[in-house]
Amino acid sequence: MNLVFLGPPGVGKGTQARVLAGQFGLTAVATGDLIRAEVVAGTPLGCEAKKYIEAGNLVPDDVIIKMVEDLLARDNRQGFLLDGFPRTIAQAEGLERMLRGLGRQVSAAVCLVVAEEKVVQRLGNRRMCPICHRVYNLLHQAPLVSGRCDDHPDAELILRHDDDPATVRHRLQVYRNQTAPLIDYYRQRSLLKEVDGDGPVEDVTGRIVASLSR
Ligand code: AMP
Repeated sequence: MNLVFLGPPGVGKGTQARVLAGQFGLTAVATGDLIRAEVVAGTPLGCEAKKYIEAGNLVPDDVIIKMVEDLLARDNRQGFLLDGFPRTIAQAEGLERMLRGLGRQVSAAVCLVVAEEKVVQRLGNRRMCPICHRVYNLLHQAPLVSGRCDDHPDAELILRHDDDPATVRHRLQVYRNQTAPLIDYYRQRSLLKEVDGDGPVEDVTGRIVASLSR
């Protein structure tokens, strides 16, 4: 099973990807996490990407496509789950090309749907572990100890730079302009599964699993 996750920032893609990858034995690939790790490591790619991420813009397609291509070529599990890729039509076409070369194809594109004002509220309350990138929500998915990751208690949870309100508004605009056209792209290929992303994590996971078996 090779899954693509679509939806605006803050819709819950990362949380669901983590749960489902564990449940189905899939390799989860979160391009945002990969790029942030490059930024922290100060690699040439990270230095180049930093300005795009901080401004809430997309990193150029060729950089991202190459990064995903390298990963998928090494994947030897039962399939993958792409969280945050593709984000443009060019990336979706790049993905199709690279999968064809590997004798694979996208099984489904899951699009999580949540009202925009809820997404903005979620991002304002989102905190991330700087070590494992696990995401918490101060309102609905708080850590066991305030401000600390459950799995890395020494690590203080952080607010991502690009989760500040002005950058969030810009990222949502970028989503509408560049990523939302993928909904039609996958609908036309009969691969689209639109799932209500509102409510408790387990309920959303249940809806995704049900949509995949239809
Ligand atoms: P995310 O963690 O998925 O919200 O991604 C954070 C940031 O990383 C985005 O705002 C982009 O700057 C960059 N990024 C992540 N995935 C991609 C992608 N597929 N294409 C271009 N930029 C990306």
